[in-house]
Amino acid sequence: MRGDDYISGGPFAVLSDDQLDAVSKGHCPACGSRGFVIGPAAPAGTVLNLNIECAMLDCRSRYNIAFVSGQAIHGHDLFDGRAGPPWPSEPSSA
Ligand SMILES: [Zn+2]
Repeated sequence: MRGDDYISGGPFAVLSDDQLDAVSKGHCPACGSRGFVIGPAAPAGTVLNLNIECAMLDCRSRYNIAFVSGQAIHGHDLFDGRAGPPWPSEPSSA
């Protein structure tokens, strides 16, 4: 389910300023729901970019976001998590 204002730019599309603002406030740019789960990240000490996935099971849009002091400053749209390899946050099928 995509929000009406969501415009797909293709895999790895750069997020717009409005989309980054949504992420900073905890909202998925694709569906508008609030909440993410954390995906794989670089080793400790080098983390600036985080992989995140929308917590809504009917969305699961993935993003790679660069955060500075909790503010999303740059990001890429990685698309639907169900299309990619499973992350440690993969929801149980049970
Ligand atoms: Zn979403």
